[in-house]
Amino acid sequence: MDMMIEVQDLTKYYGPTLAISRLNFEVAAGEIVGFLGPNGAGKTTTLKILSGFLSPSSGTARINGRDCVTQSLEVRQSLGYLPETVPLYTDLTVTQFLRFAAQAKGVEAKAETTEMHRVMDACGLEAVQKTLIASLSKGFRQRVGLAQALMNNPPVLIFDEPTIGLDPSQIVEIRQLIKELAGAHTVILSSHILPEVSQLCQRVIIINRGQIVAGDTPENLSRQLGHGSRVRLTVQGPEIEVAAALQKIPQVQEVAGQGEGKFLVVAANDLDVRPQLARLVVERGWDLLELKAQEFTLEEVFLNLVTEEESEEKMEEES
Ligand code: ADP
Repeated sequence: MDMMIEVQDLTKYYGPTLAISRLNFEVAAGEIVGFLGPNGAGKTTTLKILSGFLSPSSGTARINGRDCVTQSLEVRQSLGYLPETVPLYTDLTVTQFLRFAAQAKGVEAKAETTEMHRVMDACGLEAVQKTLIASLSKGFRQRVGLAQALMNNPPVLIFDEPTIGLDPSQIVEIRQLIKELAGAHTVILSSHILPEVSQLCQRVIIINRGQIVAGDTPENLSRQLGHGSRVRLTVQGPEIEVAAALQKIPQVQEVAGQGEGKFLVVAANDLDVRPQLARLVVERGWDLLELKAQEFTLEEVFLNLVTEEESEEKMEEES
């Protein structure tokens, strides 16, 4: 498999502040990967290094085989970068700005106009091409940012929090645009919003306090915490008795009654307790109306990973 992004032991200090610490990951051609983490986790720092705009303190990053430090000019010309705040020149019109972006990207003079129309078309900007950027809405400015990133059709696209600050309908539009880009490009995008990442990305890298804490498909991450270790069941029977009986199963850690015969059962050590639950209900002569493993949401996985780290750290501090 062709690796378009290769990151090895990537580390960055800002003065004494360790922003990212020995990151290792790869992104294959055509993948769309989400970089997920809370604020301050190190997402922007990593993406700036990948884009050739910031030097790491140690470690290496390569885009399409080129080193982001020693070949930063080639790297910058071979990727599209949408920074968290796009430095748009607000006193230019959309066309003027994109012409400027085309030149910066090394688009040949004779191909410039065609290329500008291609990216404007892809981002739905044709209608506002003569408008001053200053008078565009935030959503349209973000489209201009995307359009400059797409200039010269780079194989790799890097988007830092692409929907931050947009209103809900603009968010939907920008996400749709990004979805359409996937496949033809290798995309890495950062977000602190879980649904965004799980909707858009095939793979998620979770980063917390400058370190990668998990990386997998959204489905596998949800499953990691144990399929079947949490079961939802609905039983027709005397609720208090049912709850007490479920609680007595040795592998069951917790039973939460949710009314109308519904229970949420949590098993110890990620065990699948569905057979025991089914057997018990039937043996007691109650009716089993529903028995279903409840997967953890990506949000729960994320919170779990992030808080686990924090409590470990606390323990280290205390000991
Ligand atoms: P994220 O994008 O995940 O919010 P950042 O990469 O912006 O995280 O920041 C990672 C860490 O580095 C944070 O602790 C942040 O305060 C620090 N940091 C970021 N930029 C600078 C800077 N220019 N100078 C000093 N510290 C910085």
